Amino acid sequence: MADYREYAPYLEAKYGQRVYKLPINLPGGTCPNRDGTVGRGGCIFCDATGSGFQCLSDTKTIAEQLAENKEFYKKRFSAHKFISYLQTYSNTYMPFERFKQAVLEATDDEDLVGVAISTRPDCVNDEYLSFLVELKESRNLDVDIELGLQTVNYHNLVDINRGHTLAEYIDAVLRIKRYGLHCTTHVILNLPGDDLLDVIESAKIISALGVDFVKLHSLYIVGGTELARRYEAGEFTIISLEEYVQRVVTFLEYLNPEIVIQRLVGKGPQDNLLFCNWDTSWWKIKDAIDAEFIARNSKQGSRFDYLNGKAVKK
Ligand code: SF4
Repeated sequence: MADYREYAPYLEAKYGQRVYKLPINLPGGTCPNRDGTVGRGGCIFCDATGSGFQCLSDTKTIAEQLAENKEFYKKRFSAHKFISYLQTYSNTYMPFERFKQAVLEATDDEDLVGVAISTRPDCVNDEYLSFLVELKESRNLDVDIELGLQTVNYHNLVDINRGHTLAEYIDAVLRIKRYGLHCTTHVILNLPGDDLLDVIESAKIISALGVDFVKLHSLYIVGGTELARRYEAGEFTIISLEEYVQRVVTFLEYLNPEIVIQRLVGKGPQDNLLFCNWDTSWWKIKDAIDAEFIARNSKQGSRFDYLNGKAVKK
């Protein structure tokens, strides 16, 4: 058994069978740090697809994307239950009526148990959340809002051009939880400028806020991005794989053991990559993380002892 709470067994226990996510790529997606609302150029690591490299083309309708992806999982894994996943860009940045229509289309399938929606902390508000609560209740679907955070280091959030700070993230999570919806947080544990203290504080803040799921990524560098420019100019170096493994294990030790890990190791796009996962396969990195847990004789949550008045606990 893994030393951290894995997503696939969590889904299987909850729904009584294996469940797969069906990515959906909506046309015309963007982000407020791309179009000038809070900034230009987007996050320095993000390519032109807005993290949509694993998706089908946005020229296909939502129904076509759902059907094609479903067919793939049905054939390959004999799957029967799915989560519809609006993956690209900041989906709740869309005008409300368009967002509503897209979500209704994306959840128009009998075999769904939930819907996951990727967005940014500064694009979460009461109007969208109220609609999602109605959807959850009327359709009996679990709703998970996936927030990109990447780091709690608010100096670094400025440096990577996120266009929001830590405060907006805290507000977004508290708001999502008040509405009774699930929240996933995406974190990159090896951003240039972050150290182990940032990694630990990220785990602590995510735990303190009651986040449900975490997706971990290691930084990959796509040609043509601002990050690639800095990398080629020698403005930063990437930490070693060994140090990255240490960071992942330490992060998980500080994380609430109830939080489910949706992804332990990220994957970059196929093409135009300057750096990705130390040219090592994801499963070797996973094995190294497992081995480090064994070497430390620890597991997720083994250092989760800092909430509820640590100094006065008996
Ligand atoms: S918010 Fe997400 S999709 Fe938008 S630029 Fe940043 S990483 Fe890319």
